[in-house]
Amino acid sequence: MRANSTAVWQDMDRQHHMHPFSDTQDLNARGTRIITKAEGIYIHSSEGEKLIDGMAGLWCVNIGYGRKELAKAAYDQMLELPYYNTFFQSSTPPTTELAARLPQIAPKGLNHVFFNNSGSEANDTIVKLVRLYWNTMGMSKKKTIIARDDSYHGSTLAAASLCGLTHMHPQFDLPLPGFAHIPAPYWYRDGGEMSPADYGMKTAAALEQKILELGADTVGAFIGEPIMGAGGVIMPPPGYWAEIQRICRKYDVLVIADEVICGFGRTGKWFGSDTYGIDPDFMTMAKGLSSGYMPISAVMLHDRVAGPLIEKAGEIAHGMTYSGHPVACAVALRNIEILDQEGIVERCGREIGPYFQVKLRESLADHPLVGEVRGIGLIAAIELAADRKTRRAHPAEKKVGYTCRSHATAGGLVMRAIHDTMVLSPPLVITKKEIDELVRRATAAVNATAKDLGVK
Ligand SMILES: *Cc1c(COP(=O)(O)O)cnc(C)c1O
Repeated sequence: MRANSTAVWQDMDRQHHMHPFSDTQDLNARGTRIITKAEGIYIHSSEGEKLIDGMAGLWCVNIGYGRKELAKAAYDQMLELPYYNTFFQSSTPPTTELAARLPQIAPKGLNHVFFNNSGSEANDTIVKLVRLYWNTMGMSKKKTIIARDDSYHGSTLAAASLCGLTHMHPQFDLPLPGFAHIPAPYWYRDGGEMSPADYGMKTAAALEQKILELGADTVGAFIGEPIMGAGGVIMPPPGYWAEIQRICRKYDVLVIADEVICGFGRTGKWFGSDTYGIDPDFMTMAKGLSSGYMPISAVMLHDRVAGPLIEKAGEIAHGMTYSGHPVACAVALRNIEILDQEGIVERCGREIGPYFQVKLRESLADHPLVGEVRGIGLIAAIELAADRKTRRAHPAEKKVGYTCRSHATAGGLVMRAIHDTMVLSPPLVITKKEIDELVRRATAAVNATAKDLGVK
């Protein structure tokens, strides 16, 4: 333990640190929780609390905390070659090896990769590559990218413009021109009396309407997370992705799969695209690519788009100092090796994912405060409802989700609240026994919330 105490750290934080997605004034009044160390699925705070990290950091520590192999990969690479760029006719061994490894696990046809440092940068890169692609093809009007309400694609200017979480827009005069949105297939909240499949078809049809409204000759691409994460673990209804892709192909609109959360085993296969039969032109990878141990992201390009770009575009005037950073690539390579060799992805799909989903439903699906439990693999949502039958939520000012989150933290579980949707996305290495404990703590938090509300 370092010499500093919680109060000292909190004070330094208060005086100097502006946190992402935080009201600094409000946060300063409350003080931050200082996380000091972690192992497996557990995080520790400077006050000696030990919590189950039900969110794997920010949906990213797929392999769990404390893997020495990843530390060693970074250490060895730093001694050998801590940095070199990939701009001027040079590359490094881990960069090339990772570039060759990713197509082996990605869906068929995704054979080229462009490296960045974050999911946001990767999506910004894709926005630029979509523009470049259509310029290269001589269709310079085909530029608008259609995304969905409630989607999250990152925080930089273009990525935030893609986002459908509209509270991210007004502060920054966003979205930029060239971005459009259609409804999300959020059946639980918006589907009313329709069946999930019918509601999925209705929201997919909204894509065709939007393309026709804007003119197919102006629409360049559609972007979607296979399962929408930060919007509240919104699952694609049956048939939804097939219909979305049919529409995109019909109007020559490129398909972008943002796999930043779904990738690297979260849904029980390597990619959400494998789980839902998506055949994307571009794929965004970040988070689980290195299990969060190093900042790195990747854009995968299908042969369909990489071919013309390589043949015709000439120099692509885009890149970051740290694109293909050797240390980050070495860590990502080792991470993928472990996910593969230890069968972590396979185990998530076959055994531990289904176990998690069954246990959560057994414990919570019939709870008087719960409208729905949904998820697949090791990603799930628990909807807290005022009326289970109509799926009506409590009034926002009651802050039911926030209350439940507080109870969860007090009970030793990091569980996120997105409005009144409680979200879980634990490390993929979680054991059955640990799942039992996680579900017990989640249920205790829901029970305590119900008690506060007088729900029986
Ligand atoms: C987290 C996330 C991003 C942004 O990644 P950063 O590394 O935070 O920039 C993009 N897309 C999705 C789906 C995400 O969950």
